[in-house]
Amino acid sequence: MKIAVIGAGAMGSLFGGLLTEAGCEVWLLDVWEDHVKTLNQNGLIIEREGTTRVVHPKATTDPSVIGKADLVIVFVKSTQTAAAGKTAAQLVQPDGWVLTLQNGMGNADILGRAVDSGKVLAGTTSHGATLLGPGKIRHAGIGPTQIGPWANEDRTMAEKVAGVLSEAGISTEVADNVHALVWHKLFINVGINAITALTGIKNGEILDLDVTRELSRKAVEEAMAVARAKGVPVAEDVVDHVFQVAEATATNRSSMGQDIDNRRLTEISAINGAVVREAKACGVVTPVNDTLSALVETLQAHYGKG
Ligand code: NAD
Repeated sequence: MKIAVIGAGAMGSLFGGLLTEAGCEVWLLDVWEDHVKTLNQNGLIIEREGTTRVVHPKATTDPSVIGKADLVIVFVKSTQTAAAGKTAAQLVQPDGWVLTLQNGMGNADILGRAVDSGKVLAGTTSHGATLLGPGKIRHAGIGPTQIGPWANEDRTMAEKVAGVLSEAGISTEVADNVHALVWHKLFINVGINAITALTGIKNGEILDLDVTRELSRKAVEEAMAVARAKGVPVAEDVVDHVFQVAEATATNRSSMGQDIDNRRLTEISAINGAVVREAKACGVVTPVNDTLSALVETLQAHYGKG
């Protein structure tokens, strides 16, 4: 299978590297020239639990050299999904598919507007990766991946893609309700990311104080109310699950925290911001998410202004 990965950062390189090792023809597409040059000269170095190995996917900054791909995987940050969607439309075969495993809400809809929405597969992954520098990543965590069709009920393509991913060591199942799946991942990000980003704390430190736990609980409960208003099935124990994730990743700084630390645009608009937008559309009030979202938007808009 010929696969193009748009956004060859931590996760795009990881998936592209594993699929290359499994024998797929993989093209990594990224706007970062140093990274692409290093990938082509030295290969991709994957560090995992103290050992390293090198794989050799093809890499480019120019989508026109790739030709058409059977599968396009989008792994840019959600701020860049619209741009990636245009590129995906250029790259995907007429009978091919576009897969997003990005965090946040809205990515699959944006991609669906750029390509035929029936081609879009969405899902979540519990794999984790860190970009260590040009051409080098750390495979930080392994876990299940679930995917499904975003805009129809036809599981055929999701099953084919799940098979390809699983053969590459990315154990993947087809979910019955991919919308619920993406909402449940969103709840975790809603409860952890903005709070850690704004305060400078690590994930586990959300649990240290009652005030922080309550802030996280309220943000998640608002998001749960929005999901329910949209008819998405929501489990009762979501807040407990968010707290378990905070505990299991206690020493990590969230990705939004790292983005703020490094003065990069965050995925706030696709996380707490998405809750706010969806809430307005269905008449639910979300004061905690409104505030968290406004504060992160303010912080990132004033980078470098002293
Ligand atoms: P990253 O910042 O490491 O990689 C994104 C890459 O996209 C960068 O290399 C950037 O240069 C590239 N890019 C930006 N605009 C582009 C464009 N228009 N065309 C092509 N490439 C472009 O991000 P990441 O950590 O790999 O995360 C990607 C997505 O996956 C995010 O939505 C994130 O929330 C989600 N995610 C990350 C992890 C993780 O462990 N890192 C786990 C699960 C989900």
